[in-house]
Amino acid sequence: MSGHYDETALQDYLDDPDAFPDRAALEQHVETCQSCGASLEELRAFNLSLTTETAWELPELAGDAEPPEAIRMLAEMLVAEDAEAEELVRPLLGSPAAFRRANITAMPAMRTAGVVRFLAGRYVAFQLIRAGPPPPPGMVAEMEGLVNSLRLQ
Ligand SMILES: [Zn+2]
Repeated sequence: MSGHYDETALQDYLDDPDAFPDRAALEQHVETCQSCGASLEELRAFNLSLTTETAWELPELAGDAEPPEAIRMLAEMLVAEDAEAEELVRPLLGSPAAFRRANITAMPAMRTAGVVRFLAGRYVAFQLIRAGPPPPPGMVAEMEGLVNSLRLQ
């Protein structure tokens, strides 16, 4: 192989070095290629970070602990998505009629994972612990529509 290795190839190698088609060539390449060597080390560190116990605890990440960069970025993205979704959806939850009229599945701005999480959270909160006003009729159908539109993107 004359070119560099992309992340997919490097990850395949890390997943199962023995199954990698030309393991020797890759190992030789990363020894001398700074760029591929750095990518491999980054992936190795990231993979390792996913196996640590605290990696998936968001409250932990919001504190002073220093999480791995990729995990921190993911956590920040989720928080931002949730805030944006709350701003978009909360006004529609005031009345079942407002929710129905909004037809959110048809609105491109609503097609985010954050909106799906927000609706699901509201729905589950009411169904399980009867917290807050009941979910508007059609909420499950809207969630399904949004999930399907997310899949298509
Ligand atoms: Zn390279």
